[in-house]
Amino acid sequence: MPYSRREIIHILRSAAFQRAKGDRSRAHPLCEEAGQAARTVFGQTIYQRGVIEFSSQCDMACLYCGLRLPNTRLDRYTLSHPDVLHAVDTAVQCGMGTIVLQSGQTAQPDPALIAELVSVIKSRHRVAVTLSLGEHPEDVYRLWRDSGADRYLLKIETTDEALHQRLRPGQTAATRLRHVERLQRLGFETGSGIISGLPGMTPDILAEDLIRLSSLGLEMLAVGPFIPHPDTPLGHSSRGCLTQALLAMAFLRLQNRGANIPATSALDSISPEGRILGLQAGANVIMPSFTPDTVRGAYSIYPGKNRPGSKAADIATALQQRVLSAGFELTNITGNSKTPLFSRLPRMLEGTL
Ligand code: SAM
Ligand code: SF4
Repeated sequence: MPYSRREIIHILRSAAFQRAKGDRSRAHPLCEEAGQAARTVFGQTIYQRGVIEFSSQCDMACLYCGLRLPNTRLDRYTLSHPDVLHAVDTAVQCGMGTIVLQSGQTAQPDPALIAELVSVIKSRHRVAVTLSLGEHPEDVYRLWRDSGADRYLLKIETTDEALHQRLRPGQTAATRLRHVERLQRLGFETGSGIISGLPGMTPDILAEDLIRLSSLGLEMLAVGPFIPHPDTPLGHSSRGCLTQALLAMAFLRLQNRGANIPATSALDSISPEGRILGLQAGANVIMPSFTPDTVRGAYSIYPGKNRPGSKAADIATALQQRVLSAGFELTNITGNSKTPLFSRLPRMLEGTL
């Protein structure tokens, strides 16, 4: 690993100090190094994943998230299969090589219906399908894998047990990690990640998170800065900082050179140039939302997440233009990870020997 725990903490702390002094004049050298590392592996090419947030139902109560069950101010929706398939068609027409199906964590709808949806998508289009549906029993993961789902994204949010349990009532980091390992063993291309700048997250905790995540041989890694949602218990907390999120992403790139790392939409919620800065700091993936405009505003994880009103295709096209103007190239290939097999094998074999 190129950076020690002490070095990571030092860089995260000194970045916070510079920010306090108001020094925002140029990209941190670490971000530039990570950007170069990404270009060495992926060239200028950016992979495109179309996200369809098909249901805002959630049984959980994560303190940071607007979809939490106790938030009664949210209009809950679940899209019909024809509506999801129409959104998939639009995403493919716009050049997406992967479809990400995302929702809150809920026992409804029936896992078999999601399996059916995945197999219909796979039969209609040459795309990879990623699921991001929270924690489920192993037989459910297996059903979805057998139906053709290629990837699964389950962010650990933070590996710090005390902080995790405080922010995700009734849940533990250890269980979340076990789910991530289970997904790896089932043969999914597996992704995880964190929210940077969560209330109570110190530079030491963030550094530990980055180290733990990098030890897992994951194919996808994501960092999104915390954005307070007014209808949650953390609505009055300070948001995460852009520099810290970019640095966290840069560390992940330097320690996981072949992993797919998205420039998350949360970066754009902090700065209009957030996602471009993310691509310059080591990300190689964009994930525009193709959730129909009739419901997009109701998938309100945090303010600014999904702009209501405009057509999904128009918003995606505007993002694509920004990416091209910044000197990157876009592709519609599925864009599997380049994480070397040897770093994944130990996890995949665990429990099978
Ligand atoms: N329910 C599934 C889960 O929790 O894994 C998937 C959907 S969930 C909305 C997707 C991600 O949103 C979470 O993993 C979390 O990292 C992110 N998220 C939720 N609230 C957030 C907030 N206030 N700021 C930044 N990211 C947030
Ligand atoms: Fe539900 Fe996921 Fe939001 Fe937690 S982060 S409340 S599981 S949608």
